[in-house]
Amino acid sequence: MKVLLIGCGLTSTATAYLLRARIPNIHLTVWEKARGPGGRASVRRGPKGISVDLGVQFITTDSSALSKYSVIYEQLISTKTLTPMDCKIEGLSKSNNQNNHFIAPNGTNSLVKYFLNNANVDCIEFERRVSAITSSGKVISICGSEEFFDLIIITVPAPQILQMECPMSQLVRNELEKVTYSTRFTFNMFYEKPIIKEEWDVKFLDDKTFRYVSIDNRKRGQYDAPDSVIFHTTKEFGETHVTETRESAYQMLFDKVNELFPDWPSPELCNVHKWLYSQVVNSYSNSPGCVILNESIPIIAGGDCFTQSNFNGCLESAYTICETIENLKI
Ligand SMILES: Cc1cc2nc3c(=O)[nH]c(=O)nc-3n(C[C@H](O)[C@H](O)[C@H](O)COP(=O)(O)OP(=O)(O)OC[C@H]3O[C@@H](n4cnc5c(N)ncnc54)[C@H](O)[C@@H]3O)c2cc1C
Repeated sequence: MKVLLIGCGLTSTATAYLLRARIPNIHLTVWEKARGPGGRASVRRGPKGISVDLGVQFITTDSSALSKYSVIYEQLISTKTLTPMDCKIEGLSKSNNQNNHFIAPNGTNSLVKYFLNNANVDCIEFERRVSAITSSGKVISICGSEEFFDLIIITVPAPQILQMECPMSQLVRNELEKVTYSTRFTFNMFYEKPIIKEEWDVKFLDDKTFRYVSIDNRKRGQYDAPDSVIFHTTKEFGETHVTETRESAYQMLFDKVNELFPDWPSPELCNVHKWLYSQVVNSYSNSPGCVILNESIPIIAGGDCFTQSNFNGCLESAYTICETIENLKI
C-alpha cells in the first residue's frame, strides 16, 4: 500500500512510526513544504552550533497520558530523546506544577527525527507543497509534479487544509472553517558565550508583549554553552499584531527585550519568527482525533486541531489515524 503523509511535524511522523509497526508492506512517503522536518517543533540554528526551540518548548504530561502512551514515552526516555526538565523555572502556574515536564536535550525537532528514523520512511521530500488532491488519489504539488497514492494522510493546520483543493463534504469544510489558532511571534538571541546572569533558566512573564522567555542552552542543561535565548509573545500581542511581518515586528520586539532586561549585553545575532497558526484555540468539533475527507481512495486529515495543541494531542491524533486506517480494512 502506497501511503503519502503531508507535513513533517509531530503528528505525521508519529503516525508513520505507528503505521510501520502495525501494517506490513506499507510504502511510506512524506512531503513537507518547509526545508526540513519539525513543523511547529522546529529549531533555529545559530552560530557555533547553538540553537533554540522555536515552537514546542517542553513536553508536559499528566500520569494518565504518560501511562496511555507509555510505549512511546519509554522509548523516548530510554534513548534520552526526552529527559526530565530540571532547570530553574519561574512563574509556572500551580496546576502545571503537578505535571511531569520533559525537554528534548537535542532540540524538539529531535522528537520528529526520532519518529522519522524509526518509521523507516521510504521517501521524504522537503520543499514540496501540496496544492491539490483528487478523489482518485492523485496528489499535485505547486512545482507541478503529480503522483498517485492508495492512502493520503494530511496533518497540516486546518486553514492550510482548506487552502488545498481537496474533496470533502460541505459539513467537514464548515467544521474546518470554525477551527481557530492563536498567533505568536518569537524573538531569539544568540550570544558568543554563557553571559546572562539570571537566577532562572525559564521564566513565565507578566507582560503584555512577552509571555515566556527561555535561556535555551540552560533549559537543556548546557550551562557552559554560549547563551541562546528565546522569547514568545502573548496571545493578545499576536492577535493585535497579526498583520505584522517578521521584519516589521523586529524593532518593536527588540526594544521590548531591552526594556525588560536592560542589563543584558548585546547579542551576536537576533531573529524574529512568526507562527501565524501557533496553538489551536477552537479545535475541530468534538475533537475526533482525525476525519475521513474522502472514502474511495481514503484521504484522512489529522493533527493537533483534531485533539489539542500539544505533544499528547499529536500522539492522540496519530493513534486515531492508525485505528481509522485499520478499520477501513484496505
Ligand atoms: C510557539 C509555540 C509554542 C508551543 N509550545 C508547546 C509546548 O511547549 N509543548 C507542547 O506540547 N506543544 C507546544 N506547542 C504546540 C505544538 O507545537 C503543536 O501541537 C504540534 O507541533 C503540532 O504538530 P502537527 O504535526 O500536528 O502540526 P505541524 O507541526 O504544524 O506540522 C504540519 C506540517 O505541515 C506542513 N505543511 C503545511 N501545509 C503544507 C502543504 N500544503 N504541503 C506540504 N506540507 C505542508 C508544515 O510546514 C508543517 O511542517 C507550541 C506551538 C507553538 C507554535
